[in-house]
Amino acid sequence: MDNKSDSTNKIENYETSTIKKHIEDIIDYAAPKMDVYEFAIYMYLLRNTRLIGKVKDFFAFRSKRKELPMGASSKKTPTPMSKKSAYDRLISLESKNFIQILDNTYKGKCIQVYYPSEIQGLIKEIENDKKVIDIEEIDFFESHEYKEKILERENRKCFYCFKKLSNEGYVIEHVVSRPEGNNSYRNLVASCRTCNNKKSNLDVNDFIRKLYRENIISDTELTALTQKLEQLKNGELKPDL
Ligand SMILES: [Zn+2]
Repeated sequence: MDNKSDSTNKIENYETSTIKKHIEDIIDYAAPKMDVYEFAIYMYLLRNTRLIGKVKDFFAFRSKRKELPMGASSKKTPTPMSKKSAYDRLISLESKNFIQILDNTYKGKCIQVYYPSEIQGLIKEIENDKKVIDIEEIDFFESHEYKEKILERENRKCFYCFKKLSNEGYVIEHVVSRPEGNNSYRNLVASCRTCNNKKSNLDVNDFIRKLYRENIISDTELTALTQKLEQLKNGELKPDL
């Protein structure tokens, strides 16, 4: 008797943890790829297939759409999504690989439904998107590792005068000085100590013209530097993390 209830618990625990994982995946990886109608339809389809042990089933959306969440509207009585909205969303869900429409019959559409973990490349794609967002939030002044990443981005050369930098002989420099400038990779460069001292609180454009006037950089280098500064500001010079 006891043994039996033990093994039942184990099966339930296994199912609970699998379903928990699927729900986490849906929120983390499916929702960001969907609009609210797509999400409502997808959840409805999952509820009526995978959650009851089926991979696919027939759905007649002409009537089923009334069982789905109502449209987002400011009206006092919300209305169901239109037939067109429902059918358009089925097509877009299929194009995003969340479902596959296998057949179209008098019973409705036969739809196969996939969990995010079954869709090739989806989780990786969202994780990569997250990395791009994260880099914008990193304080590159915070740790030695991050400063090194800036130095590597510069190919271990001074951002301003192009001289080779040694491991000890460089500083991480704010292009726009504090407090206006921040510690983003868009505002930090690796520079030699001479350039750092010389720049001090000068505006970066005044400073690079000064380097040119003093023959520290050539006119080709001045052009390259002007271009680099523009790319830096636009976030095109991302350090490899
Ligand atoms: Zn320099």
